[in-house]
Order: sequence, then structure tokens, then C-alpha cells
Amino acid sequence: MRAIVLQQSDVQFDSVRPTPTPGPDEVIVRVTRAGVCETDLQLIKGYMGFHGVLGHEFVGVAESGPYAGRRVVGEINCACWMCATCRSGLPTHCPNRTVLGILNHDGAFADLIAVPQRNLHVVPDSIPDDVAVFTEPVAAAFQIPAQLAIRKNDRIIDLGDGRLGNLCAQVLASIADDVLVVGKHPEKLGLIEALGVKTAMLSDDLPRRAADIVVECTGSESGLPTALTLVRPRGTIVLKTTVAGTQTLAWAPFVIDEVTLVGSRCGPFDRALEALEHGLVEVQPLIADRFNLSNGVMALQRAQQKGVLKVLLEMDA
Ligand SMILES: [Zn+2]
Ligand SMILES: [Zn+2]
Repeated sequence: MRAIVLQQSDVQFDSVRPTPTPGPDEVIVRVTRAGVCETDLQLIKGYMGFHGVLGHEFVGVAESGPYAGRRVVGEINCACWMCATCRSGLPTHCPNRTVLGILNHDGAFADLIAVPQRNLHVVPDSIPDDVAVFTEPVAAAFQIPAQLAIRKNDRIIDLGDGRLGNLCAQVLASIADDVLVVGKHPEKLGLIEALGVKTAMLSDDLPRRAADIVVECTGSESGLPTALTLVRPRGTIVLKTTVAGTQTLAWAPFVIDEVTLVGSRCGPFDRALEALEHGLVEVQPLIADRFNLSNGVMALQRAQQKGVLKVLLEMDA
């Protein structure tokens, strides 16, 4: 099969990659669309030390199992379901887990991917592939309200106007009235304004130490220090960004202002599919470009260019 493979920070197209061998609880999914995410770009820079087939945002058709022949999306954490963490209800934190396209498990930038059957969700017919491919990042945005009780009158700042920042803004604005997205790119902020969400430039005079919640989606190491200047005392910073490498930060403000820091990763697929089905979250304006899988290396380069939001890979085009 065809696949986009990361090996020692080098991304290559492999036209003769062996087809994946499904584990005992896994089924093969024929991928139709996959999305390039900031995490893929960080993996290429060395985050997680991953090697193998990249890609964890996808939609496809199950080739076997109870959903054979149906369109599916797949949760990315492959848990053991036997350890104490899994049994306590936290399979996404299973210490024995693999993660599709991120940790010890080949991903979705390929014609075929092996996915645990229990990770699969059937895609409602009304959701086209171009929309369903956003299920994973939309679920990640829904992890914020899954972790925090957000009140309608909370003042929320969403730092970052990129792929994930846009989706988080839409999810947060569906819950709270006062959401401000702060970014660096007028065109990306324009997309968010068009959805009825307030925006500001990072260079603007922003209300300091005033936000109840700051969500950090910048993908940059300067995001957390900036968030600290915006959050109010006793407020909460939600960290969605994963940045390769080690950052340094003056931690004292967390103590002095009693700021809560919440790490936030993968979220509920059922809520994401429901939101996409009912048009609660608009994803198609984010699609900046699309490439055939055979040109996947170019797709990854395109996704790294300034101003580019979601780049899709099409397997069948
Ligand atoms: Zn991702
Ligand atoms: Zn486990």
C-alpha cells in the first residue's frame, strides 16, 4: 500500500509499504481522507521520537468487523483495557497504550490502517468525508468542557487562531457568551469573526489579568507565558498545545495568583460527531488545500506554511 512514513525526522512517501497486520481486537479501515495536524508537524521535529506511518485524523470505510462496509472515524488511543488505569475508567491514559500515528502504532496517512474495533464510531450519512475528517480535533476541543465546568458568563480568551484555536473557539462560544480569540493572522481571525466570535490581535491592548479561563492553542512556546498575563488571579489556563522540546518559565506567578493549569488532550468523539451533524461547529472553511496521498510529503510542507489552516490528504482522488 501507499503510506507517508516518518523515519529519523525524515518524511518519505513509500509506495510499497506492507499492509498493516491487525491485532486480535483490531480491524482494517480503508482510509478515504486524513487531516494534517500541528501534532504531525511537531512529530517531524522530534516530538515523541515517533517513527512509522504518520496521521491520526481520518475517516474511512471499515473492511471487517461489525462495521464492515460502513464509514467510520477512530479514536486514537489504543488502550490495553486490563490495567488499573483502564479499569478505573481512564483508557486514554493507559500506560500500555499505543496512539495511532503518534506512539508505537502506524497512522492514517496510508491506504489502510489497523484500528481497535472499540475505538471506531460510525459516521452518520449526513456528514460528508470532508467534515468527518475533523472529528478527532473537534473532539479534542470538546475535551475542554468535559474537564471544566464552564459558565455562560465566564470571560474566556482563546489564544491562537490556527486549526485547533478555531475549533476550540467555536466549541467555547457555543457554551459561553464572552469568548475572545487572540491571534496573529488577520485572515485566520477573519474566519472566526465570520462565525460570530469576537477576535483581537495579539499586538492589541488586551485586558490583562481579567480572563476567567485562557485556552492556549498557539502551538508556540510563548503561548503559556502570554496566557499567564491574561488570566485573572484564581483563574484557569487550559493547555492544548504540545510543543517539542523543553520550555523554561517563571513558575512563581502560578503560586502568587493561584492559577490553575489544566492539561487537555483527546476528547469525546460522540459529542464531536453530534456537533458536526447539527452544524454546531463549522469546519469546511478551515480546509486550505488538499493533496493526493502520493503527494503527502508536499501536503506536510504546505501545512507548515504561514497562514495555512487544514490540509487534507485524499486517498482515492
Ligand atoms: Zn491532531
Ligand atoms: Zn491499560
